[in-house]
Amino acid sequence: MNQVALDEGVEIGKTFAMSRPSSTTFDLVVVGGGVIGSAVAYQVARRSDLKVLVVDKAAGPATGSTGASVAISRCRYTVPEVVRLAYCSQLAYRSWGDFTGLDDPISDYTQLGALWVFDRSQSQLETEYERLRENGVAVDMLSRAEVLNRWPELDLCVEPIDFGDLEQHRCRQGDSFLFENEAGIADPAGANADLVASAQRQGAEVAFGTGVAGLVTDQGRVIGVRLDNGDEVHCSLVVNAAGPWCNEINQMAGAQKRWTLTPTRIQLILREWSGADPRLPITFDGSTDGCYRIERSGSQILLVSPEIPEFMEPISDPDHFEVNPDRNCVETTLAAFQHRVPGIKHVGTSTGLCGLYTINEQDSHPIVGPSEVEGLWLVNGFSGHGFKLAPGIGAMVARSITGNDAPFDPDVDDDLFALDRDPLATSGGVFA
Ligand SMILES: Cc1cc2nc3c(=O)[nH]c(=O)nc-3n(C[C@H](O)[C@H](O)[C@H](O)COP(=O)(O)OP(=O)(O)OC[C@H]3O[C@@H](n4cnc5c(N)ncnc54)[C@H](O)[C@@H]3O)c2cc1C
Repeated sequence: MNQVALDEGVEIGKTFAMSRPSSTTFDLVVVGGGVIGSAVAYQVARRSDLKVLVVDKAAGPATGSTGASVAISRCRYTVPEVVRLAYCSQLAYRSWGDFTGLDDPISDYTQLGALWVFDRSQSQLETEYERLRENGVAVDMLSRAEVLNRWPELDLCVEPIDFGDLEQHRCRQGDSFLFENEAGIADPAGANADLVASAQRQGAEVAFGTGVAGLVTDQGRVIGVRLDNGDEVHCSLVVNAAGPWCNEINQMAGAQKRWTLTPTRIQLILREWSGADPRLPITFDGSTDGCYRIERSGSQILLVSPEIPEFMEPISDPDHFEVNPDRNCVETTLAAFQHRVPGIKHVGTSTGLCGLYTINEQDSHPIVGPSEVEGLWLVNGFSGHGFKLAPGIGAMVARSITGNDAPFDPDVDDDLFALDRDPLATSGGVFA
């Protein structure tokens, strides 16, 4: 990888220097260099000559939602277009060097498969199986015996758990389960850094340590951004990819009052465990609405706490929230995992961290495309699936802006998540 001088403010090996934009005029300014903003920048730069600038107030990539991401790629969604979008993005993660054009990317893809342990009738499962297959996803229906043959340590209870009344819980074993063969995990910080590097390689400029303090407008149209040092950068289009801070940017232009996008604190627990590496699949747990996955070595397990309101705290200021998990959340999450994997032997203490989802309260899906204010586009509200969708979302935005296709583009309409859409019909919750 080429090395350049530090004071040019671009990539140095695998790290990123803070810098200021080299010009006051660009075609496109992307606010936010997380996985979404950097995917948009890369996808626009790779298919056009547009002059692209990404500004991010943080010191480097993956300091927002992206850095806390569990980085699961799976495709089971209710809406067929979302299935296809997730699938094409998964192909990008699975072919990361080809997709990014980098010889030596940081991120890679570990295929673990994803098991859905949900309470569904046989006919519901068959419908889901057909929908996934029709949209290209390699999915199997496994009987209880087949699951236990592969992962004997799992308990296959599908009865929802009431954590307020655990004593009353009576396990009820499920009979059939969906298994996504190609689901897996990537490296969230590495993928974000790779996307920044690939955008730069295609000619985009990326300025970390550069916050947006305001939007510049002219006769009601957004014509640029005002940086935190007072400088103005003018452009034809501003894309708001500010993750949990998206509402602040939208409010600067009086945009996007239709959807409620709530930064929400999500708690993750990391636990050591002993014994053989059981290589459990990614497990979506319908009894608790939590999910689990091993860390790559298999010596740790990463647990997303059950999706119940007391563990999902709305946050009014994304710069200030408690980053350590709550004690009762740790205990409950470990109990939930113990219920799913009863024979597990934990060792040492558990650690954890919290990050922010930006939950779209209406339908758990993002808002992508033009806002009602000319010159401002939105890529906001990913509700816990922004990592897996990022390559495809970047393509949808870039295709709309440039009119050009590129490899790995999704087979979905670019206005799928338009601001003026009706809420998509989903099965609800952030698993949507
Ligand atoms: C605990 C957790 C687990 C998750 N697990 C998964 C998962 O398994 N699979 C999945 O698909 N998704 C998952 N997600 C969701 C996914 O990580 C997010 O949807 C995705 O990272 C959002 O990316 P983003 O670029 O929109 O936001 P961010 O990564 O937050 O990036 C926004 C950027 O904007 C910058 N910014 C903000 N305000 C300004 C400003 N005024 N000026 C300049 N820059 C600004 C910030 O510094 C930040 O870098 C998870 C999220 C969390 C928190």
